[in-house]
Amino acid sequence: MADLLTLGMDVGSTTSKCLILRNGEEVLASALVPAGTGTSGPSRALEEALASAGLAREDVAVLTATGYGRSTFPGADYVVSELSCHALGAHALCEEARTVIDIGGQDAKALRIGPDGKLESFLMNDKCAAGTGRFLEVMARVLEKDVSDLAEMDEQAEGIVPISSTCTVFAESEVISQLAKGVDLCSLVKGIHASVAVRTAALARRLGVVPPIAMTGGVARNAGVVHALESELGTSIRVSPLAQMAGALGAAIYGYRKGSESA
Ligand code: ADP
Repeated sequence: MADLLTLGMDVGSTTSKCLILRNGEEVLASALVPAGTGTSGPSRALEEALASAGLAREDVAVLTATGYGRSTFPGADYVVSELSCHALGAHALCEEARTVIDIGGQDAKALRIGPDGKLESFLMNDKCAAGTGRFLEVMARVLEKDVSDLAEMDEQAEGIVPISSTCTVFAESEVISQLAKGVDLCSLVKGIHASVAVRTAALARRLGVVPPIAMTGGVARNAGVVHALESELGTSIRVSPLAQMAGALGAAIYGYRKGSESA
């Protein structure tokens, strides 16, 4: 039987992710562009992934779009909710996971998934920037750093400067006043990570934490947040190197299932 190539496109709020699968399992290529919905990010991610696999759009049998801006992506065969795709993708990355914590650029989700990867229940914070990647981006900007610098700074911290405000705007003022006092920057970053962890752990506890836990989304790339969340929840968290691609992977798997049904 001929290979079935499927493509998952995750149009996020801050990043666009594209992943191509052969026969629902083998990752042929992936691309991540740091520009999300409403930008050229999605089409650039598509072009990059196709070029890196040496493929043309016509070679791909099924294109499935997911993510915040999924309905804006032209030419998708299927448009599927992020929650279903994240569950499928997280299950493929970590088969044992029963709880998935996903922190993206604009929201945070806690998902319960069954042994077959099916989404059983979820809770989401998409109303408030605190506890999301946006909070970290705002804080990184105040510190004149990039979000990708924060994990290393956390590791070098001598202590922790706690952030008491739960609102992003007030927390930003708090960080600025701590900077004025001349506190250790790395300890401040640790406090910022702890603040995200407290919010996320509360969301996960409201859903009910069933181990093992896997973390997905761009913030999973920040080991400082992952460690803060581990100590907040008192359990280890699994993170795949493809954690930020979980939605795109789930979309490609969804397309594979649909493509095989109609084959
Ligand atoms: P979305 O799908 O909403 O666009 P993502 O899941 O791609 O969001 O996550 C974006 C967030 O991931 C950013 O807000 C940022 O906090 C974090 N992030 C992105 N790249 C990195 C990196 N290299 N290191 C640490 N954190 C990162």
